[in-house]
Amino acid sequence: MTALPAHLEELRRLARGWAGDLRAAALDLDRDPEAVRHLLDLPAVAYLSTRIRSAERDDTLERAVLVEEIARGDAGLMMASPGPSMTGVLVDVLGSPEQREWFHDRLVQGPTWTSFALTEPERGSAIGEMGTTLTPQDDGSYRLDGAKRYIGNASRASVASVFARVPGADRLGVTAVLVDTADPGWTAEPLPTLGLRGARIGAVTLDGVHVPAERVLGRHLPPTRRGMWGILAVFNRLRPSVAAIALGIAGSAHDYVAEHRKELRGEELARFEKLGRRIDATRLLTHRAASAVDRRPADGYLASAAKARACELAEDATRSALSFFGPAARLEHPLLDKYARDARGVEFMEGTGTMQRLNLFQGLHTGRVGRAEV
Ligand SMILES: Cc1cc2nc3c(=O)[nH]c(=O)nc-3n(C[C@H](O)[C@H](O)[C@H](O)COP(=O)(O)OP(=O)(O)OC[C@H]3O[C@@H](n4cnc5c(N)ncnc54)[C@H](O)[C@@H]3O)c2cc1C
Repeated sequence: MTALPAHLEELRRLARGWAGDLRAAALDLDRDPEAVRHLLDLPAVAYLSTRIRSAERDDTLERAVLVEEIARGDAGLMMASPGPSMTGVLVDVLGSPEQREWFHDRLVQGPTWTSFALTEPERGSAIGEMGTTLTPQDDGSYRLDGAKRYIGNASRASVASVFARVPGADRLGVTAVLVDTADPGWTAEPLPTLGLRGARIGAVTLDGVHVPAERVLGRHLPPTRRGMWGILAVFNRLRPSVAAIALGIAGSAHDYVAEHRKELRGEELARFEKLGRRIDATRLLTHRAASAVDRRPADGYLASAAKARACELAEDATRSALSFFGPAARLEHPLLDKYARDARGVEFMEGTGTMQRLNLFQGLHTGRVGRAEV
């Protein structure tokens, strides 16, 4: 097992205690993603809603530990929860003290959903292709136009971060802004999905949304710390958390087999134990990746390795778990069926395995990450 500092072991124990409640609510939320509104008092949901932390302390490892345990309870409910989520990480890295205060003020007013809007229809999440524009206006403010797709909590969010290109900037000249979704020009509607239905991913239309200059993130930073550097630092911090969601899903499937097939023997027992060892090894890689990003935010090669490996594991683990229950497993064990659907969904978050392997290859090729580390 991973040797974690005592305070993270304590957090892990606390979050593990929340799993029962989350599992009990998982299928209701899968059937009706809006059921989250009746689950806001669950300790895990309440904790995620108000988890505001000091931007001075790097917490990628802490988030990975917390997220794995909550996702092991239910990944859908973890993603359905209000709270700072991915926009919180973005604001920590690129926000000024005043922007952080504005954002956190919104969060403490009550359960507040946030969205992180990068991906676009027809263009995906490739930054060089981005079509959403942030056009300067004569009074110093900006106008936001474009469309986003597959955005978590889009129709629930009252605050969103949106990535856009300032016309005339080069291909990689992308800027992130904070948007109050009550402002005219923002519309969002949920999309039907098979996996991670709690996340309620949606399509967003941006039609002349007014963005005051003070909501443009990174303006106070030196040019070398904003733009692509800042955005990559955010993605590097987020990837270990996505790996942790995948690990949580794999853990749920493993727990399900342990609970419902207590008399395993022979080949089945060996297969079950091997899966457990794979989960432990992937957790070790995820924690090393998170610590590497905490030490050096530009160091995202291990984070890519962890994300790719954990997503592969989640799919293998959920398929393997189904095979312990015979050919009708998906019908007779709806929770396991849900885990398998969720595992497929997580593969696409924060870049597919193919993109993570390409990133890792760059690290291996340039010697920035050693073969033995992955
Ligand atoms: C549950 C869920 C939640 C999400 N939440 C959000 C959110 O909150 N905000 C947001 O902005 N987005 C979100 N997304 C969208 C997600 O981040 C993107 O779909 C993801 O990053 C993949 O990017 P893409 O669509 O550009 O696909 P691509 O990266 O283009 O990949 C498409 C396919 O082509 C393959 N491929 C791509 N390039 C290559 C290559 N060079 N060589 C070989 N194969 C290649 C990929 O492996 C993949 O199979 C979410 C998606 C899901 C499923």
